[in-house]
Amino acid sequence: MTDLTRLSASAVAEKLRAGEVTSVEVTQAYLDRIAAVEPEIHAYLHVSADDALATARDVDARRAAGEELHPLAGVPIAVKDVVVTQGMPSTAGSKILEGWIPPYDATLVERIRAARMPILGKTNMDEFAMGSSTEHSAYGNTHNPWDLDRIPGGSGGGSAAAVAAFAAPLAIGTDTGGSIRQPGAVTGTVGVKPTYGSVSRYGLIALASSLDQAGPVTRTVLDSALLHELIGGHDPRDSTSIPEPLPDVVAAARQGALGDLSGVRVGIVEQLQGEGYQPGVQARFEESVELLKEAGAEVVQVSCPHFEYALAAYYLILPAEASSNLAKFDGMRFGLRVEPEEGPVTAERVMAATRGAGFGDEVKRRIILGTYALSAGYYDAYYGSAQKVRTLIQRDFEAAFEQADVLVSPTAPTTAFKLGEKLDDPLAMYLNDVATIPANLAGVPGISVPNGLSDDNLPVGFQVLAPAKADDRLYRVGAALEAALEARWGGPLLDRAPELG
Ligand code: GLN
Repeated sequence: MTDLTRLSASAVAEKLRAGEVTSVEVTQAYLDRIAAVEPEIHAYLHVSADDALATARDVDARRAAGEELHPLAGVPIAVKDVVVTQGMPSTAGSKILEGWIPPYDATLVERIRAARMPILGKTNMDEFAMGSSTEHSAYGNTHNPWDLDRIPGGSGGGSAAAVAAFAAPLAIGTDTGGSIRQPGAVTGTVGVKPTYGSVSRYGLIALASSLDQAGPVTRTVLDSALLHELIGGHDPRDSTSIPEPLPDVVAAARQGALGDLSGVRVGIVEQLQGEGYQPGVQARFEESVELLKEAGAEVVQVSCPHFEYALAAYYLILPAEASSNLAKFDGMRFGLRVEPEEGPVTAERVMAATRGAGFGDEVKRRIILGTYALSAGYYDAYYGSAQKVRTLIQRDFEAAFEQADVLVSPTAPTTAFKLGEKLDDPLAMYLNDVATIPANLAGVPGISVPNGLSDDNLPVGFQVLAPAKADDRLYRVGAALEAALEARWGGPLLDRAPELG
């Protein structure tokens, strides 16, 4: 039998439907793969084998009884640890949530369970999703399957590494400034940040509420579309949830795979390429633009002059929102509680001791920055100015989308850097998100598609951005590019990754 873990999620779903395999067999194959590769990768913080197999047995029985099932029923999935899961640890990569077992499911987890997809476990991440390398996790590093000495991207490095190492067919990530797309780029996987408000945030442990968005992490564009369709759509429990239905992302992915992009206008963003981008990253980007042209797309240059200030604005808005969202971790309500070593045990002193011991350096840095940016006397100079820049970036997108249906750029300026390389230099770490952050500030959707290897033999990503609520365009263009590249390579990029386990 072919190795089930090498198949795409849609291929597994097909085999399950046809009765060629059972969900128990697929789930067990993944649990075996996890056991084999986790010592090298450490993508998971928690593996829920019993829970996953129970779901698999249940879905197999239902299928045998002829029950009508969701297309992804029986296909296993991994979930980033920032998403709350009832009865399963949810730490967001932080010591402060160690031991907390949520009493409820996030909306997207409810939908995954309703579709009867076995949940393999929770994936590693930078603490509270702050970072680009997963090195800020309180529970150790995740390693990039392409080179174990390198970072898997962040903050969702665990989800991306699990999918790239064939230790999950599908995963959930969250993207506040690039944490789905950048890990996708550096691990050779597909990552999608949906339109802000199109996937419920209910049950995500909030980082920056006006930027956060959950989305799919997969090996193929079609698999992302199938997962996006499941988790997306209106949720009355999220006040920013978009009431109208999602565009048909699955149909768009299938159409794109046919390879015809005639009538599609593709805009190259002048500010998101060139200087600062590794030569191999830039070269693969230009080659893929040629492939889009060969598929019939019309390519134009667009200018988004305020993107230059996106990173600076983001690193004021994000810490401001985070400092407020993280105030609830006070040693009383969730997880860790540390009492002061000496002196009276007052609420304030327990809170100080708990936060001092429970938060890591990057989280403390951002809470301090955010609190400062919001303080009286500084609010207008920092937070207020950043919000104005945000509006200018939104206008840049509006103008660009008058000239083009989608915008394209490299997903990240470099390939995966070495573990430890940027740990002592927060600004260098932040710079890895220059190309992904503008989409979060404007709420528009984006996809990263595997775009070959740079000169250092490490994966690079191709980013496609679309106007809000036009997520289908990502899938059409993404699937067309994927088809053209795989025809050129003679198979998926991940087939070239080194053997593990
Ligand atoms: N790397 C970015 C940051 O550190 C993005 C994080 C994210 O998308 N969660 O904030």
